[in-house]
Amino acid sequence: MALKLGLVGIGKIARDQHIPALAADPRFELVACASRHARVDGVANFADVETMLAQVPQLDAISICTPPQAHFEAALAALRAGKHVMLEKPPAATTRHIALLQSAAARHGCTLFQTWHSRYAAGVDAAREWLRGRTLTGGTITWKEDVHHWHPGQQWIWDAGGLGVFDPGINALSVLTAVLSDEAFVEGAVLEFPENQQAPIAARLALRTEAGAVVNAEFDFRQKGEQTWDIELAATTGSLKLSRGGGALEIDGRPIGADEALAGEYPRLYARFAELCAARESEVDWRPFQLVADAFLVGERRIVAAHQV
Ligand code: NAP
Repeated sequence: MALKLGLVGIGKIARDQHIPALAADPRFELVACASRHARVDGVANFADVETMLAQVPQLDAISICTPPQAHFEAALAALRAGKHVMLEKPPAATTRHIALLQSAAARHGCTLFQTWHSRYAAGVDAAREWLRGRTLTGGTITWKEDVHHWHPGQQWIWDAGGLGVFDPGINALSVLTAVLSDEAFVEGAVLEFPENQQAPIAARLALRTEAGAVVNAEFDFRQKGEQTWDIELAATTGSLKLSRGGGALEIDGRPIGADEALAGEYPRLYARFAELCAARESEVDWRPFQLVADAFLVGERRIVAAHQV
């Protein structure tokens, strides 16, 4: 029997990825949506999660596509109602929120799937395999995109808790933490805040692995022209480059595997969610979010020109 699912926060990612992935997956049936302003044809629509949970008790699961500032309340309400929960990235507004949701899922016997869609990009598994057994000597992350193109009108990114340039940057950190054989931590950071916004428009992070390799990351929302989502890692025996957000992989300069758009990641995310729900297991890995939180804790702050959303 298909899992009856309610979708929360009908915006860009819900319409571009979640709804098409659900429509193509027989393991799920989209039966309801909760969104303050948007409606989805053919399902029951509600203005908030609490009303959806109360009026559609047959729901098995909910998937939350709101900005991170709205994740905690919605996820907690669903877990308390005994529903499985899938969370878009970034997982929440604070690190304690994730810990509390993880305990609530365990207490209520429900699945919490705290997703990182970029880990499902086509080149990531092969990159992890290649790095296994090799010694990392260093790396660079270059994640530069035009915020006006990718996030038109999204004020929440610039509000407190919206993460600014870390909204895309955390995708790079989710891939890095998935492919490295040892742990990385933040050694230093510089964050650039527009004088009229609460979140950074650019950031530079110096990361170090436990084994001592340095990975420098550069995130920038002001990129015009070519957009760059690259991770380059060097080992004692060769090097790899993940580009297009993990969709393309080169090893020692030779392309391995095919490019894949974001569209390929969401069917795999829902396949994983179905597996986790069947097993009543959770998957939570907040290391990328800890790296971002740590960059805010230790980072130097620079005030830069105002940014109009
Ligand atoms: P979006 O277009 O702004 O849509 C999010 C929707 O959530 C809004 O339309 C809004 O619908 C609802 N919402 C509930 N509480 C909100 C609040 N406090 N502030 C603003 N909206 C609120 O954003 P999105 O691009 O879909 O991104 C949503 C999440 O998905 C983010 O965490 C983002 O990192 C992640 N994501 C986005 C992309 C992408 O390409 N855009 C890719 C992967 C992941 P109502 O007003 O109807 O409630």
